[in-house]
Amino acid sequence: MSLQTLIEQATNPPESGSAASSPFTTDSFDASVMSTYGRFPLALERGAGCRVWDTQGREYLDFVAGIATCTLGHAHPAMVEAVTRQIQKLHHVSNLYYIPEQGELAQWIIQNSCADRVFFCNSGAEANEAAIKLARKYAHTVLDIEKPIILTANASFHGRTLATITATGQAKYQKYFDPLVPGFHYVNYNDISAVEAAISELDEGDYRVAAILIEPLQGEGGVRPGDVEYFQKLRQICDDTGILLMFDEVQVGMGRSGKLWGYEYLGVEPDIFTSAKGLGGGIPIGAMMSKKFCDVFQPGEHASTFGGNPFACGVALAVCQTLERENILQNVQDRGEQLRSGLRAIAAKYPHHLTEVRGWGLINGLELAADIPLTAADVVKAAINEGLLLVPAGPKVVRFVPPLIVTEAEINTALKLLEKALATVTA
Ligand SMILES: *Cc1c(COP(=O)(O)O)cnc(C)c1O
Repeated sequence: MSLQTLIEQATNPPESGSAASSPFTTDSFDASVMSTYGRFPLALERGAGCRVWDTQGREYLDFVAGIATCTLGHAHPAMVEAVTRQIQKLHHVSNLYYIPEQGELAQWIIQNSCADRVFFCNSGAEANEAAIKLARKYAHTVLDIEKPIILTANASFHGRTLATITATGQAKYQKYFDPLVPGFHYVNYNDISAVEAAISELDEGDYRVAAILIEPLQGEGGVRPGDVEYFQKLRQICDDTGILLMFDEVQVGMGRSGKLWGYEYLGVEPDIFTSAKGLGGGIPIGAMMSKKFCDVFQPGEHASTFGGNPFACGVALAVCQTLERENILQNVQDRGEQLRSGLRAIAAKYPHHLTEVRGWGLINGLELAADIPLTAADVVKAAINEGLLLVPAGPKVVRFVPPLIVTEAEINTALKLLEKALATVTA
């Protein structure tokens, strides 16, 4: 079958329902899949652009985008082409050999960021694990610290492995999983005096702060942008002390903020940063980037079987090139402005329910008043009923992370559907 035919088949799938071998039921699903997720009661079957359809054939406007991953939306021709080409050519061989696609993707990232070197893995948590391991080796071998400590922020999110739930400054992700990994300490976000105090208090015996791991904008913690002044002081402290500055760009990076990397909003460059969610446009891939001076791993010290395979890297490269070629960052900035001004107009109509709109580019949060029972999940459920997919970021913030290709008309439609949902839940 020709590549063109395969692409046409992929972009013109059969109508909903016709391909299913047996009808979908949530009961049979729940009887066989471990219940680690609280799922909304719908099953999505196909998508095109910013729209998805469920197994009943009902259409939704997708302002979740696989939780900030599907940068080019669903079934984008550039992704369909790259996936089809790469699976026919070569998909996986392991890092026993050189992988040209991995090298090309690394070069694209280096040319478009402050990084000098890239390590590839499969997810955000793994990218942060790699950063944590690198920071510890750097601490032992370069800073000569016996017991290195990594500072992270309260209300942060860094992943679900043992080290990354420990790095995550939220007790709800850690409960039942102790003993946690030693060597982490939490400070309040956007509070420089807390960082200064921790660095001097933790300088005792063999212990010392070796690195700061922080999000340029806290995503899961409620869409909280970093303060420019705070981040510039962090950079200064790290320059003065040799402490590594590590940014978790897993959610905010890869164009979501309207700039390629969230740190561009803060006017500071990290020593290490991580990426995942949007990097492959929804194909699993993660990456850790470093400066030359902190590139300390030797062969055999860190690895991933699937990491950097030809398939994930070939597709991610197509996503990166499409972002660049179609000037998508400009769309992210324009549509972000449009969305925030629309949300502010809606918030003004509900002063007792809605307290704040905040975000960068196409990662935005709408905060609900603390003193009312209404939760973000209530608003999300009501929005689903209206045909709009949204995702909470904590109990009181509704998050808007549509595909970066979202159009002006789609933003207007989403705002209308949100208004309908709010009318229901506030009635
Ligand atoms: C989602 C997320 C992670 C974890 O990524 P996974 O791919 O789920 O492991 C880490 N950090 C941030 C900031 C995230 O938003």
